[in-house]
Amino acid sequence: MQRYFVPAGQWSDDAVRITGSDARHLAAVLRARPGERIIAADGLGRAAVAVITRVSPDEVVAGLERPIAKTGEPAVRVTVAQGLPKGDKMETVIQKGTEVGAVRFIPFISRRTVVQLDGRKEEKRLERWSRIAKEAAEQAHRGVVPEVAPIATWRQLLNGTGNYAAAFFCYEKEEALAFRRHLAELKSRHPAPDVLLIVGPEGGFAEEEAREAVAAGCLPVSLGRRILRTETAALVALSCIMYEFGEIGGS
Ligand code: SAM
Repeated sequence: MQRYFVPAGQWSDDAVRITGSDARHLAAVLRARPGERIIAADGLGRAAVAVITRVSPDEVVAGLERPIAKTGEPAVRVTVAQGLPKGDKMETVIQKGTEVGAVRFIPFISRRTVVQLDGRKEEKRLERWSRIAKEAAEQAHRGVVPEVAPIATWRQLLNGTGNYAAAFFCYEKEEALAFRRHLAELKSRHPAPDVLLIVGPEGGFAEEEAREAVAAGCLPVSLGRRILRTETAALVALSCIMYEFGEIGGS
């Protein structure tokens, strides 16, 4: 059954109105017919099975049949702050991070970032990244489309660490293997915390940045004795958090 995110404003008490590229995909590609079923989600945690009643090239209307209680939303809410990587690695982080359960992505610029984006380029990248998050959320049966925030400066990122129950700074030079202990301690305080995960770009972090992150209240954590690619690190750290909070292995 095809699954679509339909903005909350396009829901009524008994139907949803699908428009734009999703409507065109249903009408022209899938040749949907009245009577067929789809799953609609509003991106805010509400989902329902709906029966198509009307199909036109730019709009498909479906009557709400029954709500879907379980959506794939984790209790622990992880924001992945990813040092802007080269090429299409950010797309990999967003796609796979959405599948694993991240709720937000913050691309950021730091000392060793090599990618330069002007205003127009940044706007187009953000549109593409948001589309990737939506498609990955539909495929993963998420109840919410993860947000892709505008590109932040290092200082802006550190200024926001106080909004989280914990901010983990994935630091390739961190010797102690204590991530599991930190997560267990966090879980004992917060069963459903907001967590920030900071991952550096290909060039990693300067020592000064590590000091600034700790001063901003971040906990430096090692992800093991091997150096991971930047696009691997966030997924490993995210999976550890999901596992520790029972989203993967149960409690
Ligand atoms: N240029 C660095 C070096 O050669 O040591 C490697 C940086 S790594 C490719 C990119 C980012 O992934 C790091 O800044 C860190 O956030 C994360 N990372 C990779 N391996 C890690 C590890 N073993 N422990 C903690 N973080 C790691």
